[in-house]
This record gives sequence, structure tokens and C-alpha cells, in this order.
Amino acid sequence: MTGRNKDFVMTKSEQVPVVATSDVVVVGGGAAGLSAAVSAARNGCSVTLVERYHHLGGMASGGMVLVLDDMVNPGHGNRPDEIVTTGIVSEFVDRMKAQNAAVFPPPEDCVTNWEMWQKWSRWGCINFHETGTPQPIIHAVAFDPDAWKRVSLDLVKDCGVNLRLHSWFSEAIVENGRVEGVICQTKLGRQAIRAKMVIDATGDLDLAASAGAEFIQGEYIVTTVFRLCDVDTDKAEAFEYANPEEYKKLDRQARRVIGGAWGMWWLKTPLPGIVWCNCPHMTGYDGLSPEGMVAAEYEGRERMMNLLAFARANIPGFENAKMLGAAEQLGIRQTRLLRGEYVVTKDDVHKRRHFADSVCRGRDYYTPYRALLPKSLDNVIVAGRHYSVDSDAQKMSREIPPCMAQGEAAGVAVALALQSDCALRDVNVGAIQAQLRAQGADPGDIPSANALIDQNEGA
Ligand SMILES: Cc1cc2nc3c(=O)[nH]c(=O)nc-3n(C[C@H](O)[C@H](O)[C@H](O)COP(=O)(O)OP(=O)(O)OC[C@H]3O[C@@H](n4cnc5c(N)ncnc54)[C@H](O)[C@@H]3O)c2cc1C
Repeated sequence: MTGRNKDFVMTKSEQVPVVATSDVVVVGGGAAGLSAAVSAARNGCSVTLVERYHHLGGMASGGMVLVLDDMVNPGHGNRPDEIVTTGIVSEFVDRMKAQNAAVFPPPEDCVTNWEMWQKWSRWGCINFHETGTPQPIIHAVAFDPDAWKRVSLDLVKDCGVNLRLHSWFSEAIVENGRVEGVICQTKLGRQAIRAKMVIDATGDLDLAASAGAEFIQGEYIVTTVFRLCDVDTDKAEAFEYANPEEYKKLDRQARRVIGGAWGMWWLKTPLPGIVWCNCPHMTGYDGLSPEGMVAAEYEGRERMMNLLAFARANIPGFENAKMLGAAEQLGIRQTRLLRGEYVVTKDDVHKRRHFADSVCRGRDYYTPYRALLPKSLDNVIVAGRHYSVDSDAQKMSREIPPCMAQGEAAGVAVALALQSDCALRDVNVGAIQAQLRAQGADPGDIPSANALIDQNEGA
């Protein structure tokens, strides 16, 4: 932050109480951090999970990002769709489904025709990477944000993870080039947590950056996601399919009013009458700067109320709609990105480049273990949207399930590093891949038929 300021004060040195000591500390309880904590704990580590807010889930719950995407390597011709984010992702979905809080198409509905489009597209279960109409229906999961929080807490409790909510990470404790733990700001003052291995799952690279890891400053659109209630979704859909041209015209106007949205600005949620609005898109805001985020909050809330007024006045089914509320967390997609042992490029993602040290995957791309490792630190690994990737490539590879898959891999890696008493970069990648397979995940060690395999595929 200091590069942004001109005026400074000096702070006093102080004694900080140590409130926890564990094998592993995970900072950030979003999709990636939760998965990392659970995976490390199940592999025999004592784990402390630190989260600044009162809930777990990050963007997936507090940010109200309510469709799990990029879970499938889409089939083509005789090659069927392949679900690639399994392991903890599948378990998480099953647990939400058991609470009637997750909706997804059965495999037989994952085809390309208008009937299935009308049945599933308003759940967000479409392959939006395909052009043409209708787009294919694909395995994606619409879920409820409070269920995400509940399932996260259940998992953490089941695994014996020491959960420390209301704890805002402020700095890494670095001694002799090694991260010995973290310091958090709490209502009781600053508190220290000691750990042998550290996982940065803050999404903004707070921890690794504080410990001196190299990074770049990325930026992408931000969004004040919100939900409307009392929407008659049956009526809205019936109108849309009976009057496609009229609907298209209204929809174009609605998107102009909100000022930026994906193809579908409203989607159904597991709660009847409540729709999810993944908009507006707003540009030019720095997701690390308090001033920037306050300005985005003002702008986003104004735009969403304008859209509500337009929809109530014009769109059948929305006559009685009301603002249920904006997400607790501003929708930040990209800030700091690690410059790690390998930097994933747009070309890698686009061409589906396979890596011999792949430890997780999303859609049809592979993530090498090296892209989770800072260059300079032996006992720090990252998981989530701030991994080592170019800005453009991150925009195509940051969805919730792949972030969880990264977390699951990071959890296995720290456990193996502790067992072998070695630096994270020296862990046997084959052992990480084997353990991930044993726990039901797909590390991407076996390339799919559509992967690009380089002659000199590096690990
Ligand atoms: C508006 C929007 C729409 C999106 N749409 C989709 C979609 O439809 N489908 C999809 O799959 N993905 C979507 N994404 C992407 C996806 O939501 C994120 O990339 C993913 O959830 C990131 O997970 P994460 O765990 O890496 O980070 P986050 O979810 O950001 O989690 C980071 C966690 O760390 C905590 N934390 C941060 N800093 C600190 C600190 N200093 N101290 C303590 N705790 C800290 C945060 O509170 C949070 O809980 C969308 C993202 C946005 C913003």
C-alpha cells in the first residue's frame, strides 16, 4: 500500500500474543481456503483457518456468486462431457443438494436442443464458451449462499479445523526467509498464529505479498451482485419463450439500464421467486483500495435500483419484484496475481496445454503445481484466484470449482512436505497426484483426448 501514499506515521513495536500453533495455517476461508483446510486436515495436519468475516465462502457466499461453473471438459462428437472438478467439489455439491440447496441438470439433460435450453438455461447451466444458439446444457450447479456457509462450517467442524473468524490477516511473520506464522487484527488487538506451513487463500495474495513474494497488479470488472425477490419466474419465462423478439428488445433495454451484464442478467436460484443478478459490470475500480470499493458500492447500488424500477415497470413476471439485497462483499474478480515458479498464460488455457506436474484442472485446462508456488518462499503455497497466472488467463480460469481444486491440491502438498520435512517445491508431484486421486479428485495427471501435449512437456 505504501506506494500509493505520501504521508506516513511510525508505529511502535509491540508484544503480540500467540493464540494458536498448528502444522498449517490457511488464511482466507473462501472456496479455495475451505478446501485447502479440509484437505490438509484429512491428511493428518493440525490446521488453523483464518477468515476476516463472520462467515466462510468468500465470493461464493458473501459475494453471492451463485452458479458453480467450469466443472466440465465439454465433449465433442463421440467424446462425452467429462466432469473434471471432483473430490471436495463433488462432496460439497452433494452436501448442499441434501439440503435442497443445489440445482443441476441430470446427465441426460446435458444436450443441445431448445427443449433443454428452456428447462435449464435460466439456472445458468449452459456452456457459455460455445457460440451459436441454443448453447449446450452442461453440468453446472445453482446454489444457495447460506447453504454454502452452513456446509463450510459442517466440514470444518467434522475435520477438527481450528476456525478463527473475525480475524483480519495483517502481516506475515518472516524469520530467516521463512514464514513462521501470521499476525491478525481482531477486536482484542493483534494476535499471532504460528505454523510450519502456510497457505494463502485470501484471493488478493495478502499473505504471500506481505512475505515478499513477487506479484503483478491485475484488474478486471467489479460487480455489486444482488438478488430480487417476489419474481414470478414462470411468468417471465413463459413471456420470453412466447414473445422472443419483444423479450429481446426489453432485455436489451434492461442491460442498458444496469450498464453492463452477461447474456442473462437474471438467473433462478433454489429459493422460489428469488433471482440472482450477476451485474452491473463496473470498470476502473481497484479491488484493494477502500476508496475504490466505496465508490463502486455507491455506483453499483444506484444502478441496481434503476434496473429494479425498469423491470417492475416493463418486464412481465417482475411487476412485484423487490430488492432482496446486495451481496455483503463487493464482487472483486482480480487484484494481485502471484509471479510464481511458473506463470500460466492465456495460450496455455486457450490451447488446453497439459503439464506433467498438473495438480488440478478446470473446464478443459490444467494447472501445474509450480503455478501455486512463490519463487522465494519454501513453506508458502497459494490457492485460488490469485494463483500464478497472467491477467488475461486468470479471467478464463478463476471459477469457484477450479479454485476449490487448487485448495485441495495445496492441502495435500503441505501434508506431504511436512511428512518429508522438505520445502514445498521439493515435494514429489507424483505423490501429490496419487493422493488426490485416492481422495476422489482429478489432478489432471492423465490428459484428456483434447489436451495439447508438448514434446518437451515440462514439470
Ligand atoms: C461478480 C462475480 C461473478 C462471478 N461469477 C462466477 C460464476 O458464475 N461461477 C463461478 O464458478 N465463478 C464465478 N466467479 C469467480 C469466483 O467467484 C471466484 O474466482 C472464486 O470464488 C474465488 O475463490 P477464492 O477462494 O480464490 O477467493 P475468495 O472467494 O475471494 O475468498 C477469499 C477469502 O479470503 C478472505 N480474506 C481475504 N483477505 C483476508 C485477510 N486479509 N484476512 C483474512 N481473511 C481474508 C475473504 O474474506 C474470503 O473469504 C465470479 C466472481 C465475481 C466477483
